[in-house]
Amino acid sequence: MLDELTRLTAHGMARALRVGDVSARDLAIAHLDVAERQNHALNAWLTIDRDAALAQAEAADATLARRRAEGGEALADLHPLHGIPIALKDLISVEGGQCTAGSRILEGYRAPYDAHITERLRAAGAVFLGKTNMDEFAMGSSNEYSAYGPVSNPWDLDTVPGGSSGGSAAAVAAHHAPVSLGTDTGGSIRQPAALCGIVGMKPTYGRVSRYGIVAFASSLDQLGPFARDSRDAAALLHAIAGRDERDSTSAPVPVPDDLIRLAESDDEAAGWLRGKRFGLPREYFVAGMDPDVERRIRESVGFLEDAGASVEPVSLPHTDYGLAAYYIVAPAEASANLARYDGVRYGQSRRLPGADFIADYLATRGEGFGAEVKRRIMLGTYALSAGYYDAFYVKAQKVRTLIKRDFDEVFATGIDALVAPTSPSVAFRFGARTSDPVSMYLSDACTLPVNMAGLPGVSIPCGLSEGLPVGLQLIGPAWSEVMLFRAARAFEGLTAAATWRNQAPRDLALADDRSGPTPTERAAALTVA
Ligand code: GLN
Repeated sequence: MLDELTRLTAHGMARALRVGDVSARDLAIAHLDVAERQNHALNAWLTIDRDAALAQAEAADATLARRRAEGGEALADLHPLHGIPIALKDLISVEGGQCTAGSRILEGYRAPYDAHITERLRAAGAVFLGKTNMDEFAMGSSNEYSAYGPVSNPWDLDTVPGGSSGGSAAAVAAHHAPVSLGTDTGGSIRQPAALCGIVGMKPTYGRVSRYGIVAFASSLDQLGPFARDSRDAAALLHAIAGRDERDSTSAPVPVPDDLIRLAESDDEAAGWLRGKRFGLPREYFVAGMDPDVERRIRESVGFLEDAGASVEPVSLPHTDYGLAAYYIVAPAEASANLARYDGVRYGQSRRLPGADFIADYLATRGEGFGAEVKRRIMLGTYALSAGYYDAFYVKAQKVRTLIKRDFDEVFATGIDALVAPTSPSVAFRFGARTSDPVSMYLSDACTLPVNMAGLPGVSIPCGLSEGLPVGLQLIGPAWSEVMLFRAARAFEGLTAAATWRNQAPRDLALADDRSGPTPTERAAALTVA
């Protein structure tokens, strides 16, 4: 019976909470139970904080009871996330809690304050279940670069959930939480959402404050929601969005109330598609793309057309340069952001006593950072060094402008949104890309141009390929999140009856086995094989 509660959507839970069919405490217990039971097999969580979650749930129940006594309006005014369990990627500060960013160097560090979004979620009444696993400092596309071991994809435990927000995506796909938060610098929300068969949105750069979030590449990082449907994702974006004085890049753009309306209304919105214009960027059907993934995307385009939308081929000619430019800009910013981990601040517990300060610094960073992080620091430091700055960093910034202009030009022709694959492949096996960094980097070829341009993008499930989920990406102009969610919602309506949509991740039952292999053991066995 408790497990049944985890099958609900967040909006379903919100309704049950308001009518009094269920308590926030019941919801928290149901989700904590399954998260604790399956973490051996999935490793999606780095901490599960039962006591804190139950205390928050009880507070949410007390507010519900008070509002219920006050009458209808007071109850209806509660945020849709009130009393809803949520998972947070382990780079989001929660006062007093651990915040490892998937790195050894932050082991033992405790966040001294709440992130802006943590404050916002508390105000909304959400219940924090714990912190999720991730690639170290959010660098990666498979979650295999976490210092705390890989995460298994609930669809196939021998495959990756995607990254870097792999834990947050796997937790929602496995019904450990109805919603979770991730960050997306080059694809880290959309790509794991695609590989885990859920919804994930990267909002417009500046939509959500980054205050209190461990920084990777500050001009690209954005927080965003994961959920099992677009309504829940819209509710979560509503809770976290908006201007915050403490992040000068957070924009003074109003948070649309329509995000709440989307979350709370039951109307099917498929009619909304009539007359809409979508663009299909030719360059996103990259060489090496899995043909079956391409088939699913083209099928989805057919659904949109059948519903009265037009889908026209468009060109974003600088797409090919996106990856190269991203791997200059992102490591450059990372090398600066990660300079703060010196063994004195943040990582005191990791401080290794050396002969002098420099020896200490080298030892701390040498031990504390993993190989991928070191690779990025070296690439970034090189690209920023005197003599190379103009040749690499400045040039990459120019390419970035060209990429942004490509999008601007397409949207200026009246195209409402672009339709594209999220990932060129479905979930891949552990070890398949770790020995070749460039093949790992290519996982994000279809997502990272969107970060370079600062635009919003959402990935929604659009079918299966060999039993594994495929994600459809919708990309819109700046601040068009409501429109993207409407399109996503419409697509969900069109495909509501499809068998794939109602299929649970096929290895979920296996994830209950606490005597089976852990993801680390699975990855080791596959790498040897
Ligand atoms: N995979 C990309 C990288 O490693 C993107 C990661 C992200 O979005 N955080 O940089």
